[in-house]
Amino acid sequence: MERIMSEIKSAADKVAKKSGELVELSKIKLNILSTKSSIEEQYKKLGQLVYTSQKNDSDDISVKFEEIIAKIDRLQDKLAELEEMAAQVSNKVICPNCKKVNSADAEFCSRCGLDLSVEQ
Ligand SMILES: [Zn+2]
Repeated sequence: MERIMSEIKSAADKVAKKSGELVELSKIKLNILSTKSSIEEQYKKLGQLVYTSQKNDSDDISVKFEEIIAKIDRLQDKLAELEEMAAQVSNKVICPNCKKVNSADAEFCSRCGLDLSVEQ
């Protein structure tokens, strides 16, 4: 789990350096998928824990519950960050001339006036 988190973090750091590129967007989307599947894993563990606790009537699982819930919370925070990043990347256009970041619906670069509606 820690390894996945650090992989996501380092990928996110790279994204921050080169935001706006399509390659980065697909990396973010890949991270979103892996984060979602990590969340699914934790839900599965939680379900198994509920089953085991009901079956065995054990009391010593509340710590495990808290651990898993904390993990899910962290993963969901990460997921929200990644989704925001993906939105930012896909809603922005970087001017090929001056590298100014413009909103996706901008027709002209706000710095150099380049026509952004033309496929570069
Ligand atoms: Zn420009």
